Amino acid sequence: MKILVTAGPTREHLDPVRFLSNRSTGKMGFAVAAAAAAAGHDAVLIAGPVSLPSPEGVRRVDVVSARDMLAAVEDELPEADVLVMTAAVADWRPKTTSAQKLKKGAMAPVIELEPNPDILRTVASLKGGRVFVGFAAETGDPVPEAARKLAAKGLDMVVANDVSSPDSGFAVDTNRVTFVFPNGHRTYLPLLSKAEVAARIVAAVEDIAAHGRENTP
Ligand code: C5P
Repeated sequence: MKILVTAGPTREHLDPVRFLSNRSTGKMGFAVAAAAAAAGHDAVLIAGPVSLPSPEGVRRVDVVSARDMLAAVEDELPEADVLVMTAAVADWRPKTTSAQKLKKGAMAPVIELEPNPDILRTVASLKGGRVFVGFAAETGDPVPEAARKLAAKGLDMVVANDVSSPDSGFAVDTNRVTFVFPNGHRTYLPLLSKAEVAARIVAAVEDIAAHGRENTP
């Protein structure tokens, strides 16, 4: 299968040197792309600005903003069988971006924002028989929110992730996640390396592709 994976944060620039972003390092998404390639799939990784080497056997497309990421997803999706949206897309961007560095004196103390497009919602009409996987990074029990996102975004699986725990979430090499499926089934995984979580995600995606979303797992 061709598996499209997004990873990392997006940056929403105010000027060439200043931006809004978040703590995502891209580790989980890079691990998913690596696991997809290792399982023999054609893996394409759409990466926001991160400082990670490209995994072996993966084609990488680098992007900066949420709108760049959406354009790259729209470009690659027609040929893809699976979309795994691991990226922590910035929800808001500054209303205006200056091509020149803003002088301190020229900056207003308030930054006016406008919403970014939701990538999963924007490409929902192109889903067809493709498998779509989302992530829900929450502080506290992430499962109820993951179930809400699964339904709201019409997904086949959501990976729920408590990012407030020190061994799970941003910037660490381990993760404790729960897979949430549309048939109400939940798979609670123990604390695992991100590489092992990624391999489980790829196996779950293979199951959904083979048996349909209602019969998984
Ligand atoms: O609604 P929330 O941002 O928490 O949903 C998380 C899921 O939605 C993730 O899979 C994320 O990659 C995706 N997302 C998106 N476009 C956005 C924001 C989040 O596709 N603008």
